[in-house]
Amino acid sequence: MADRIPLQRYGVLFVLSSPSGAGKSTIARMLMKSDPQIALSVSATTRKPRPNEKNGVDYHFVSDEEFDQLVSDDAFLEWAHVFDHRYGTLKASVEKLLEDGKDVLFDIDWQGAQQLHQRAGSQVAQVFILPPSIEELRSRLKKRASDSDEVIAGRMARARAEISHWDGYDYVVVNDDVERCFTDVQTILRAERMRRRRQTGLIEFARELITD
Ligand code: 5GP
Repeated sequence: MADRIPLQRYGVLFVLSSPSGAGKSTIARMLMKSDPQIALSVSATTRKPRPNEKNGVDYHFVSDEEFDQLVSDDAFLEWAHVFDHRYGTLKASVEKLLEDGKDVLFDIDWQGAQQLHQRAGSQVAQVFILPPSIEELRSRLKKRASDSDEVIAGRMARARAEISHWDGYDYVVVNDDVERCFTDVQTILRAERMRRRRQTGLIEFARELITD
């Protein structure tokens, strides 16, 4: 087979959003494992770490004062209040990943997706993952922990609020089967990588093809 000129391209800013319980974290994990070209953007948050979470891996856990400082330093590409806490995407870490030639995966809510689109629209591809039904979502949220009905009702209300923003996304995938949902998300990423506007080396490549 003839040598193929490696084409340069801009990285994809790949946003995955969903209500909690729709399977977003599983899909994100599967994507990271199967595809060394994409790296996760580790957000900063004022939320306290959960028992299995590591600082710098799952989040950069910061105090309210540290978060205020990051906001006033203009260190965030986007940030938002999500329920009781603040979360934000750090500009410097995204820039570093793009410089390293990576696509960047964002596990952020609809407010973050909207801000990212405003700031870097042409580089962003947004995917919203929906649960197959509200009963299925309720049963997934119930399985998570032995929480009270009140806690579960609160989670359901949050999930419904998040779902109401589905129509701001480029792609919507229903997660009724995790393998199929993963394949769909992978397919979207593959197609986004091939968008003409991302492929910065195309002009020279096409010129060579056209020239006698
Ligand atoms: P959790 O506290 O369960 O890890 O995340 C709660 C919500 O915050 C999730 O919907 C998650 O996608 C969102 N989130 C996490 N990091 C960010 C961020 O940097 N920016 C925004 N806007 N949302 C985030």
